Amino acid sequence: MSTSSAAAVSNLGALDAAHHLHPFSDMKKLNATGTRIIERGEGCHIFDNHGKRYLDGFAGLWCVNIGYGRGEIADAVVRQMNELPYYNTFFGTTTPPAVLLAQKIASHAGPAINRVFFTGSGSEANDTWFRMARVYWAAVGRPTKKAVIARRNGYHGSTVAGASLGGMKWMHEQGDLPIAGIHHIGQPYWYGEDGDLSPEDFGLKVARELEEKIDELGEDNVAAFVAEPIQGAGGVIVPPATYWPEIARICKARKILLVADEVICGFGRTGRWFGHQHFGVEPDLAPIAKGLSSGYLPIGGVMVSDRVGDVLVEEVGDFNHGFTYSGHPVCAAAALENLRIIEEERLVERVHDDIGPYLAEGFGSLVNHPIVGEIQQVGLMAAIQLAEDKASRRRFEDREKAGVTVRNHCLENGLVLRATGDRMLFSPPLVISHAEVDEMIDITKKGLDHAWAVLRA
Ligand SMILES: *Cc1c(COP(=O)(O)O)cnc(C)c1O
Repeated sequence: MSTSSAAAVSNLGALDAAHHLHPFSDMKKLNATGTRIIERGEGCHIFDNHGKRYLDGFAGLWCVNIGYGRGEIADAVVRQMNELPYYNTFFGTTTPPAVLLAQKIASHAGPAINRVFFTGSGSEANDTWFRMARVYWAAVGRPTKKAVIARRNGYHGSTVAGASLGGMKWMHEQGDLPIAGIHHIGQPYWYGEDGDLSPEDFGLKVARELEEKIDELGEDNVAAFVAEPIQGAGGVIVPPATYWPEIARICKARKILLVADEVICGFGRTGRWFGHQHFGVEPDLAPIAKGLSSGYLPIGGVMVSDRVGDVLVEEVGDFNHGFTYSGHPVCAAAALENLRIIEEERLVERVHDDIGPYLAEGFGSLVNHPIVGEIQQVGLMAAIQLAEDKASRRRFEDREKAGVTVRNHCLENGLVLRATGDRMLFSPPLVISHAEVDEMIDITKKGLDHAWAVLRA
């Protein structure tokens, strides 16, 4: 316990319970068990207030891609704070970091994407494109094209539009969501949802739900389809190879905008700059956040293709939308430095050519474990699907318990993972070393062994 006395620590816990409402948390239960207090981070490790060290297999919340404790970012932030801590981008003004960041992002997107609209978060980015898509269609003389189709078990944030676009039933139940004009189709989760089809045929089948939904609503009424290239919070669900090309075909044929939510997949996580590049499709709009700044400061945005951007610029006039912190100069400076580091250390290439394949080798040693149903991985984004019976793909009756049992054992042994039901999720920093991958696989194996023993009993 380096920086805090025992008394101060127990006091922090009590103060947290008394005054701090946590996101996505049962506060009564949490206050009874107490929170973990994280004090420090270094590389791929975090340290709690008892000095216990954890390997962070989850990069914070899918975001600390360059690892903790990077002084270059701190320096860039201090420089910008001293130079200009804040100015807005509303009334005919801009700031150097906002301009340079927009240019830098555009340089890594495909040739069709050349503009960025900044926000403070991924949720705001989703609210932003939701309005932008409708404004676009109105501007090109198709004002009835307003409906948006999204997916069950997708995640697009916690604002009213974000949570509505998301397909989490337990979020919709609180606060009367989704709002009008948002419709959901199925997800490409072969392991969980298919009976007998091959993954390829299943991928086509769920993609064609989009076509059916467009026909049901009428093409003249549909503005856009949104999906994460790989569902993150839903369980790192990698769609079958047939899925994305079919989705892109349908969007094009039926003239609706394709929106790729790149909040997790963007900035190297999949071994490409953006997740849609992995699947070879080109979105019209793409919300970004998380890895944009490696989480060092809050910033998000929407990457806007020329198809939409040219209309916004040439036809719309004012887009009556924006945030006080759109293009915040200090957040933009942190993001710029983050992207400089990703470029200089060739982290995207590293994920694709080196550490991604190395992690795949490690998973190779787990795939025959008796409670592992399947392992899905793209770059440094992966899931282990737990199963009670591998051959029949039968899952544990208490899926929550299965996942939590593995997760808690890993945590006790110094590895942070996330469990979404009975899928164990991995999203380590892109700078994770080979030795740290070995450690992650080793602790995970012990967690699986432990869960096997417990769940059999
Ligand atoms: C995290 C996330 C969001 C929301 O971002 P916030 O910064 O938490 O508002 C949106 N979309 C996806 C795919 C995400 O993973």
